[in-house]
Amino acid sequence: MVTMNTKVKKIISKGVEELLSFPKSTTVRVISHYDADGITAAAVLCRALYRAGYDFHATLLKHPFKYELSKIKEEGNEFVIFSDMGSGQINLIREFGCKVVIIDHHQPINFENQMDSVTQINTNLLGIDGNYSASGASMSFLFAMEMNKDNIDLAVLALAGAIGDKQHLGGFRGVNKTIFEDAIKNHLVEVHKGKLKVLGGKLIDDISMSIDPYYIELSGNSEKVGSLLRDVGLDGRRKYEELTGEEIKKLHSYLLLRFIKNNIRPEIVDTIIADRLTSNYLPDDLERFSDVIDACGKSGETGLALSVCLGDMDLYERAKNVESKYREKILHHLLELEMGKLVEETNFQYFFSPEASIGSTLSGIVMNYFPYKNKPVFSLTKKDGEIHISCRGTKSMVNRGLDLGRIMKNLSKKLGGSGGGHKIAAGGAIKTEDNEAILKAINEELSS
Ligand code: C5P
Ligand code: ZN
Repeated sequence: MVTMNTKVKKIISKGVEELLSFPKSTTVRVISHYDADGITAAAVLCRALYRAGYDFHATLLKHPFKYELSKIKEEGNEFVIFSDMGSGQINLIREFGCKVVIIDHHQPINFENQMDSVTQINTNLLGIDGNYSASGASMSFLFAMEMNKDNIDLAVLALAGAIGDKQHLGGFRGVNKTIFEDAIKNHLVEVHKGKLKVLGGKLIDDISMSIDPYYIELSGNSEKVGSLLRDVGLDGRRKYEELTGEEIKKLHSYLLLRFIKNNIRPEIVDTIIADRLTSNYLPDDLERFSDVIDACGKSGETGLALSVCLGDMDLYERAKNVESKYREKILHHLLELEMGKLVEETNFQYFFSPEASIGSTLSGIVMNYFPYKNKPVFSLTKKDGEIHISCRGTKSMVNRGLDLGRIMKNLSKKLGGSGGGHKIAAGGAIKTEDNEAILKAINEELSS
């Protein structure tokens, strides 16, 4: 069973007790983030609420949450649970005038004593590393388990959420690790050792249509993939699962060598051939499932994504179609960036993205799979008089002192708007339309 330290146990029990003190006639309002972690977090909570006899009403939001939150405030809710968000918006949430539980792993803005109306369960206030050890979904799972131990099956969704936030890379740690071990013990997930991440179709498509991992010079180029596969002695029309052990070894070695030649960081190369998880509860392996849910969220299909996570697997084919279109769009932009639209400055790299949500995905892929430049990546998108930013760094940059969350906060203070996030991944909506002003401010922040 997941063991929690006393502080974690105490605050989670408090939140659960507060919830259960409300009559079953209460419709619990669930508000979560629109990425894979946020959607699975919401699904974990909604399923636990439903099983406990509560009705729920869930909404998935994207940054900056201000406008939607001001509308939700007027709804006259009795009980609201935020997951994978909320800590950064606590000042607005305190004005809701109803009981609120926040379950988050993002940096909180307030360390002062909690107000009675808001119970904040935040990893960072509990000695848990919110970047690598627990996600919104995994913390929501702890909450669901405190409600009822029969919710153990929801561990599968919790792990899919943590995977969505890339917390599985290099192996699960902390809270995620205990959830993973419990899931194994309860036969909820199965580990498949040393596998390439594939889409499940023809080998040629698995590589040429892949965006994560992004294969430099191969993704988006099926002819080249076909010819390289022939060189390795493989027919691209076959499926990965059909290959013999010898063929798999050959393919893996070839691809790994390419990553190394392209100066991809060892910690990323180590994730190319890795353990993959499957579950009888999900129609795809957990990583692929998480990608599909994330793509639906980022394509505006949050309802579809949530329905799938709530168990309506008949909708999964539709969700996969949405993901396929989203992936094509991302691939198109990645190819443009590879062809020269990624600009390298002294201290950072940047590019312009047509949509903020795409910029969020692109910046992560560029940071991990484009030849390593040892500089953080920034995506800029103009929208409604603001510039939306997504930025990504690496663990070694963070170890050297990089704090992108702080940089985004400072940028928003300097130029107006909002911003924040983690040291390694952050974002903001800055109140200016002046690209040059933003680039100058980023440079100043990084230089200091
Ligand atoms: O949007 P993106 O995925 O790049 O966001 C990364 C992180 O940056 C988010 O998880 C959030 O913590 C933070 N962020 C923020 N304000 C924004 C956008 C992002 O605090 N406007
Ligand atoms: Zn998250």
